[in-house]
Amino acid sequence: MNLEDYIRNVPNFPVEGIQFKDITTLAKIHLAFKESCDRIIDHYKEKRISKVAAIEARGYVWGGVIAYQLGAGFVLIRKPGKLPYNTLKETYELEYGTDTIEMHTDAIEEGDRVLVFDDLLATGGTAKAACNLVEKAGGEVLGIAFIIELTGSLHGRDKLTGYNILSLVEISVEE
Ligand code: AMP
Repeated sequence: MNLEDYIRNVPNFPVEGIQFKDITTLAKIHLAFKESCDRIIDHYKEKRISKVAAIEARGYVWGGVIAYQLGAGFVLIRKPGKLPYNTLKETYELEYGTDTIEMHTDAIEEGDRVLVFDDLLATGGTAKAACNLVEKAGGEVLGIAFIIELTGSLHGRDKLTGYNILSLVEISVEE
């Protein structure tokens, strides 16, 4: 099954010039959704993952399934002000300005073996910030998984050197 066939490209969303990769068209097809989950689960099933940490909101759709099937707990990484208890924060650079993500201080314990999941790798800033949060809390990042990796001009992998990265679909973008 070619998962790329199920991803919709939406030009100029949310702003002019962005080619938005819409994975709702993949998620809604049972066999495509199942295959995308299974390929990540198969890749990490021998790694004794204890927590899957996923980034809101699309990350949760796959993250919960992956955590359940790996026999791991699930950790929510969220935008600022959404988590109710004490949080660790990580701020990272965007093309214009900065963004921040948060995780509960007690979500990850010392020695946790963590798989970080997000739907898409673009510049790598979000995934790197998520890894920093996990490591601040004492967890070890065993891998970072994505459905889509944008390759070409963005060089997202360069921000993530040293980590085990899995992406199911590579899509080349030029700016
Ligand atoms: P980055 O931090 O640049 O790697 O951006 C990754 C985050 O932004 C992910 O959570 C994606 O959901 C979102 N994102 C960035 N670029 C796109 C795109 N072209 N299409 C869909 N989502 C995107």
